[in-house]
Amino acid sequence: MPNGSNIKVKTLKIDGKDVSAREDQTILDVCKENGVFIPTLCHLEGLSNIGACRLCMVEVEGSKKLFPSCTTAITEGMSVITQTDRLKHYRKMILELIFAERNHTCSVCVSNSHCDLQYLGQKMGIDHVRVPYRFPKQSVDASHPYFQLDHNRCILCTRCVRVCEEIEGAHVWDVSGRGINAKVITDLNQPWGTSETCTTCGKCVNVCPTGALSDKGRSVAEMTKRREFVALLANRRKEKV
Ligand code: SF4
Ligand code: SF4
Repeated sequence: MPNGSNIKVKTLKIDGKDVSAREDQTILDVCKENGVFIPTLCHLEGLSNIGACRLCMVEVEGSKKLFPSCTTAITEGMSVITQTDRLKHYRKMILELIFAERNHTCSVCVSNSHCDLQYLGQKMGIDHVRVPYRFPKQSVDASHPYFQLDHNRCILCTRCVRVCEEIEGAHVWDVSGRGINAKVITDLNQPWGTSETCTTCGKCVNVCPTGALSDKGRSVAEMTKRREFVALLANRRKEKV
């Protein structure tokens, strides 16, 4: 907590255990601080939270609703439950829908074994998908001299959009279209290699949870990512303010 801050402390329960936290924290922040695992895909420390993937849903005692923990602020006396059969059911369903929406063929992916989606699928025991695969025809953009974008692997988490805007300040990425037609685009939906705003910093590539964004020249399973720099840069900026 910054020196001289007026931020107050609140007390709440996470899975029946009493914890205290700063009033400006989210349920997810508090769970992470207390070693409680909650699956996430669109969340990344240092970027804004958008509650898009819905994997981090939790229950709050006294309400029938499910709450996205990354965008729900804590309140005094709230009691949060992070592991129930209901939550497990919905989290698995979300992952299955993501796997079915595009073409996630792990065995031929540059990020095989270094992929957040694959990791969560294994951790949550997904050995088959109960909905029909859509097998959409998706393109690959290899026009950038150093990086490539494979829409087949994209899960529309928008980490790339947010890091490019919030940390790099370039705002190359956006999302065009809606629903199953949504896709990430560079500049005015032109090939990434022709973008006049991209600084070639590589931040988007490193925060991408899957093999959708990768360095050129990497073969299957070679693409590892560094992500810690986002929280570091975000904190340094906050300290300067
Ligand atoms: S390389 Fe950097 S500037 Fe270019 S799109 Fe990615 S984050 Fe934005
Ligand atoms: S390209 Fe990667 S970071 Fe960007 S939305 Fe798709 S999966 Fe997320």
